[in-house]
Amino acid sequence: MVNQQIMPEGSTRTRGIEAHKHNILAGKALAETVRTTLGPKGMDKMVVSSDGEVTITNDGVTILEAMEVQHPTAKMIVEAAKTQEDEIGDGTTTVVVIAGELLKSAEGLLEQGIHPTIIIRGYKMALNKAMSVLKELAKEVSPKNPKLLRDIAVTAMTGKGVEESKEKLAELVVKGVLKVVSEEGLRNENIKLLTKPGGSVEDSKLVEGIVLEKERLKEGMPTRVENARIALIDAPIEVKETEIDSKITISSPEQMEQFIEMEEGMIKAMVQKIVDAGANVVFCQRGIDELAQHYLEEAGVYALRRVKLSDMKLLARATGARIVSEPNQITAKDLGKAGVVYEEKIGDEYMTFVSGCENTRAVTILLRGGSEHVLDEVKRALMDAIGDIGVVIATKEIVGGAGSAEIEISRELTRFADKLSGREQLAVQGFAKAMEIIPVTLAENSGLDPISVITKLKAEHDKGKRYAGIDVLNGRVVDTLPSGIVEPLRVKTQALSSAVEVVTMILRIDDIIVNEPPKSDQQEMPKLE
Ligand code: ADP
Ligand code: MG
Repeated sequence: MVNQQIMPEGSTRTRGIEAHKHNILAGKALAETVRTTLGPKGMDKMVVSSDGEVTITNDGVTILEAMEVQHPTAKMIVEAAKTQEDEIGDGTTTVVVIAGELLKSAEGLLEQGIHPTIIIRGYKMALNKAMSVLKELAKEVSPKNPKLLRDIAVTAMTGKGVEESKEKLAELVVKGVLKVVSEEGLRNENIKLLTKPGGSVEDSKLVEGIVLEKERLKEGMPTRVENARIALIDAPIEVKETEIDSKITISSPEQMEQFIEMEEGMIKAMVQKIVDAGANVVFCQRGIDELAQHYLEEAGVYALRRVKLSDMKLLARATGARIVSEPNQITAKDLGKAGVVYEEKIGDEYMTFVSGCENTRAVTILLRGGSEHVLDEVKRALMDAIGDIGVVIATKEIVGGAGSAEIEISRELTRFADKLSGREQLAVQGFAKAMEIIPVTLAENSGLDPISVITKLKAEHDKGKRYAGIDVLNGRVVDTLPSGIVEPLRVKTQALSSAVEVVTMILRIDDIIVNEPPKSDQQEMPKLE
């Protein structure tokens, strides 16, 4: 065989329809796995990673990451979901479920002898049409409307294990967003999510400013500093070894004393420099040596050490401080400003609050809950909600959720297909059918009969009710807009285009060549079945 002549011994090759089938199978298997988590009534998954870490979640991309997917084709779909995560945050399960269903439709078409190129072309036409349907369905909204933002947050969080508290959490998110949003839109980083195990989710609260999980270094430091002048330092406040002649030899007690005095002098001078610059608060990303702490205390400075890099960046933005690497060269210009810096006890720990910041208004949502697992999931739910709100603020367009948009796309595509001739028509029909997977899955996951749900939805849409969806919380077909089951338009357009993109990539592959790994770390050919 040609194969053996041009390829290393032991490599395997799968071609043509077999290659397609192999890849489609992998994609479908992945979609089947995450499908049960879709929607408000979706189940959670518990994934135990290879190093024993347990993740319990309902979030698509989190599951996919924790699964450590090996199959190269499945990995491509995971990448598509990650793109969705990076671009928006929400809609990751949707990407995978739609991609899986488009592959399934493609499989049927391939079996009818339709060439992948035709399928790809048909899918592309269908995508374009779907985009224009979505655009038509989209409603323009005023993004500063708290009720709308609340609905979006609730829709994003529904089913994320925060059911009982979602109203409360949505309220915190909306309040937080409205505090920090500016002309330029919403910078998600300006809303810090801090998790603190203990209490219940209901105890979560919104704090104006930035909360650092640290208490002031010394008893004698003030617990509250008004008109804070903040120094951000990313070098240790101590005498660096290199600053002292390393070859110094100490042969007498006097010399020893001199040496210590010199060291003390250097630290004192360094602290003095910071104080002279006008700082009354010092946040240091590295260590602050005992003696330096003492001098800072004496000078009445509020100081923290080992502050996280992400917090340093946030503080720099919020207070206008410049992060300084040479404490000896700090000047008044480097300092940032905040209305007040103070210490407060949360649960059984003291934390530092920086509020009334000079530049951006930053807020912290302090999340409480029974355990790390619960809090991780709450945090993911909030991140989806904040992501969606950010998108709506930027794009000002929403569509109905609960399968309403997908049913409408499916209907319009079926009509569109009727006007086409040639084999692309079949591909467009296949795409139309695939869109039903969203309402079907939402129904299935909540124990409703998918066939009757789809029939009802179609009947409503036939009557011109283009926003009719299935509210799985009460099992009824509702008009999603007044019911407040709404999502940003971009969540849908991005999910659909990511799904089609990855499916196209997969369908283009007609030859899989797998080379044998070196004997030492031999692995099985990845299998997903
Ligand atoms: P994803 O990771 O794709 O965001 P989710 O598990 O968050 O997946 O589910 C999102 C889907 O749930 C969307 O299609 C959304 O419209 C739908 N949804 C949200 N709330 C409801 C509801 N009350 N009834 C039915 N569907 C809903
Ligand atoms: Mg979601």
